[in-house]
Amino acid sequence: MLARLIGTHSIIADPFLRPLPIMNISEHSVVSFHYTLKNSQGEQLESSREGNAMTYLHGSGNIIKGLEKAMEGKAAGDSFAVTVEPTDAYGEHKPANIQRVSAKHFRNSKALKPGQVLGLQTRQGPVQVTVVKVGRFNVDVDANHPLAGQTLTFAVEITEVRAASDEEKDHGHVHGHGGVEH
Ligand code: ZN
Repeated sequence: MLARLIGTHSIIADPFLRPLPIMNISEHSVVSFHYTLKNSQGEQLESSREGNAMTYLHGSGNIIKGLEKAMEGKAAGDSFAVTVEPTDAYGEHKPANIQRVSAKHFRNSKALKPGQVLGLQTRQGPVQVTVVKVGRFNVDVDANHPLAGQTLTFAVEITEVRAASDEEKDHGHVHGHGGVEH
């Protein structure tokens, strides 16, 4: 009986049972979240659900603009959906970024398939391109981001919000779990 009373009392007085203060996302918050990304046809393009939550430093432009804006003021446990226009996502699709490259620049151009993503060495450095069309003498490649020109809808669940360390603020990115290791 005595033990039960002490037990009950100790639970009521336990300071660790008080809810933690809610931290709203603002500049220098380190945010972890799960997301599912759909295009305007409602097709699922990506989801973090198969792996770890994504972690980023808020206010440093580390995620697309439209999503970062929608995160502002939210807290751990919040779920929401946001639709982002191309200008606030991966930009407009620029036709000038589709280029015809001589087949001889590829090790084995005949094995290429439309839709395939590959890295190309250019005078401006390495560029990621998507194969558009494979011809006998030429290959048409698209250097636009695969999601350029698309209106994107993110369903987001925020799992954790913490304050960034001084070092993280200096570097402009997250360290440790889900971040840069160096
Ligand atoms: Zn760093």
